[in-house]
Amino acid sequence: MTSDTTKQYIDPAWRPETALVHGGSLRSGFGEMSEAMFLTQGYQYNAAEEAEERFKTEAGGFIYSRYANPTVAMFEERMRLLEGAEDARGVASGMAAVSASILSYVKAGDHVVAARALFGSCRYVVEDLCPKFGIESTLVHGPDIEAWKAAIKPNTKVCFFETPANPTLDLVDIQAVADLAHEVGAIVIVDNVFATPMLQRPLAHDADVVVYSATKHIDGQGRCLGGIVLGSQAYVKDHLHNYLKHTGPSLSPFNAWVMLKGLETLPVRVRQQCENASEIARRLAGLDEVERVIYCGAPDYEQAELAARQMSGGGQVVTFEIKGGKAAAFKFLNRLRLIKMSNNLGDAKSLITHPATTTHQRLGPDERALLGITDSMVRLSVGLEAAVDLGNDIEGALD
Ligand SMILES: *Cc1c(COP(=O)(O)O)cnc(C)c1O
Repeated sequence: MTSDTTKQYIDPAWRPETALVHGGSLRSGFGEMSEAMFLTQGYQYNAAEEAEERFKTEAGGFIYSRYANPTVAMFEERMRLLEGAEDARGVASGMAAVSASILSYVKAGDHVVAARALFGSCRYVVEDLCPKFGIESTLVHGPDIEAWKAAIKPNTKVCFFETPANPTLDLVDIQAVADLAHEVGAIVIVDNVFATPMLQRPLAHDADVVVYSATKHIDGQGRCLGGIVLGSQAYVKDHLHNYLKHTGPSLSPFNAWVMLKGLETLPVRVRQQCENASEIARRLAGLDEVERVIYCGAPDYEQAELAARQMSGGGQVVTFEIKGGKAAAFKFLNRLRLIKMSNNLGDAKSLITHPATTTHQRLGPDERALLGITDSMVRLSVGLEAAVDLGNDIEGALD
């Protein structure tokens, strides 16, 4: 019996489905089949010289779980293989991933350009937090490439956006923004939550860094908070690693284990959720009570050409507007019986929100109008239930 962890066989030619089941596994001396949860803060050294060496090189073993942990390392490696990135760091939440990815890279005097349609807390980081530290920021309409061109300046260091964006599902052309950003030496950070790593590979479109809230599809069953940042070895070594090590938004080994096991079923879940979402979008389009349906995989989707270019599926979020404004939308939400009201997404359970009064309330009516978020709009995260039951619930609540 030994306490050494041994790396398992990896074939670089493995398809994502295979890498997500076997990739990154570290087995302890017990040969356990299910990956182990290493609930430990620290690690023992066999000699003073070994401790000295490990602190000097940060190689050959673990030091302290704020820096690295075997279960977290398995999660990072499995995600790294999936994303095709050089390196990855797991963190405590999606917001820890977003804030670290940006703040570890910029300094006073730098400039950040971001798409206006961002997850609320991401807007806080860009709009409020960055300026506090002397980092200028500009918000643009994400789909408008001319707006990015006009906003990017010689001191721009980061371009940041989500695509598809929440809740209007607007897309940003990753390649086009990357081309503009790289002209001035800026990096592109993509929040890839809505597309999931299964449907969109930002690095293949020349993005530099990809971030996830693993809380969403990667967990997939609404249990734990987690996040991950993926990028080049140089980015992680020169910027991200020390920032995380010394500021401490570490991913709990327990949460990392849940996410690691979640990855094994991610392709199957996302495929089924996309299929369900596409059926729900079709059914919604035929209902008189529904004003408008937005689904990235629908034939009439506004940016269908771009979606086909950078996504391999429509995703599992369907946004729609109900005739009759806020009152009708509220009445509809209150009458749903199967679909639950909650602001998470990517869950096995179908979840619905009214963005104008919840996730996007803080923005105020003018900013919401600018983003196209109306009072009659609801956002549905389609789960793994039978699509016909979901459709019946929706029709019953609209009746
Ligand atoms: C949920 C979410 C986040 C934040 O993730 P947490 O895990 O809740 O911190 C960031 N970006 C997007 C697009 C999200 O949906």
